[in-house]
Amino acid sequence: DGASNAQLSAIDGIAKEFDLTVEKLSEIIKHFCNEMDKGLEKTGMNVAMIPSFVTGVPTGKEVGTFLALDLGGTNLRVCEIAFEGERIIKVKQHKYRVTETQKTGSARQLFDFIADCVDKFLAEFITDYTENAKIFKMGFTFSFPVEQTAINQGNLIKWTKGFTCSDSENKDVVFMLQEALNRKGVPVVVSALVNDTVGTLLSHSYKDPKTLIGIIYGTGTNGAYYEDISKIKKLNKIPDASEKMIINVEWGAFDSEKKALPITMFDNKLDRESNNPHSQIFEKMISGMYLGEIARNILLHLIDRMLLFDGYSSKELNSNYSFETEYMSTIEADESHTLDNARKILEESLNIPSTTLTDRQIVKRVCQIVGLRAARLSSTTLAAVIIHCGMVECGVSVGIDGSLFEFYPHFSARLKTALRELFGSNVDKIEISLARDGSGVGAALAAMLAATE
Ligand code: ADP
Repeated sequence: DGASNAQLSAIDGIAKEFDLTVEKLSEIIKHFCNEMDKGLEKTGMNVAMIPSFVTGVPTGKEVGTFLALDLGGTNLRVCEIAFEGERIIKVKQHKYRVTETQKTGSARQLFDFIADCVDKFLAEFITDYTENAKIFKMGFTFSFPVEQTAINQGNLIKWTKGFTCSDSENKDVVFMLQEALNRKGVPVVVSALVNDTVGTLLSHSYKDPKTLIGIIYGTGTNGAYYEDISKIKKLNKIPDASEKMIINVEWGAFDSEKKALPITMFDNKLDRESNNPHSQIFEKMISGMYLGEIARNILLHLIDRMLLFDGYSSKELNSNYSFETEYMSTIEADESHTLDNARKILEESLNIPSTTLTDRQIVKRVCQIVGLRAARLSSTTLAAVIIHCGMVECGVSVGIDGSLFEFYPHFSARLKTALRELFGSNVDKIEISLARDGSGVGAALAAMLAATE
């Protein structure tokens, strides 16, 4: 192509910094395995390894109707889920957008908003809502780090993914939600609190009994898996005779001390400018909320060196988080000779005055570099959990939810390539599938498992 030597060498330099050899992946896995062990031993560790208090494993035969609420990051989802046995599930659902004001205001405002959404959902979608004096049981998927103390109790450790509500850290999120529901007279009891990864794991297990891990690659990233209760040393009371309990790993926080991960200046700039510096470092290299911003930092660096867009940026591209991860998906998927979709994004959405084909090729290359590193890094925590559980040779199923996994081009293929480099042909025994909307069904299952205990 028409790139100059200066452009080529700058891009090669960046590609090198983002490169992840299999040796480096193995080193990261080793470090992560240690962090998992530490988290199982003591509370308050960097990789928190949070006991979910979900001890039953779904059989697929469950029957009953439950509500589910899912506060993920971008949307709030309310669902009614009917289990009819034989692995049959019926779902009614509605999404409500969470605004910036709600994410950054007071906790009371946020939970009042959530209670309003539940009330609206019941009025609109449940036909016998008003005549029926029924009390609905609800599972609450809350995808932020929580120190759980019971199936229906958990204190918020910290907000992530752009949420910063005041007056809520260290408070019980079920209590705050139940209070808001009670204030409005909404006939709902919150009977289970689950992380979205726990929900994804549960709902995938309902379909496939070989499931070991549930994962999210969405706004953030995290995973949950079935752990032997005997290995959860920090549990002081063993809940019942069960052998397994779901652990919410909270791997987004992995390596916040920046010891093992290949951090670049572009990652450090993002971290410094974020509303949670020095935390969620692994998540910041992988998830949908951040990939576009890493790519934007690289583009600005190239612009400042006069190697891109003839040195011109735009007001839009200069503002934080303007280069969305969805744009990267579109640009990576653009296989046309003229990269016309990339041109539209750059010139029309981001107002870059004009772009050459070489510019667009460079932008595409930057997206590939950032997207490839994210997918390869994603393999590390997944591989570590499989190794930790001694399942490399047995084969397991993995349920994955999240827009990044679902929509980002080549994400899943790149992840599998990295796993093949790590595990050789044993990778063929790992069945990875999309577990869409698992968190709703999973929360309802948790509410059911809690009710039958
Ligand atoms: P949640 O907030 O529950 O994690 P999602 O799984 O939908 O919800 O993740 C939303 C994130 O996924 C956003 O940060 C967004 O940047 C990213 N995203 C949405 N659509 C795409 C896409 N087509 N390609 C890549 N990333 C996407």
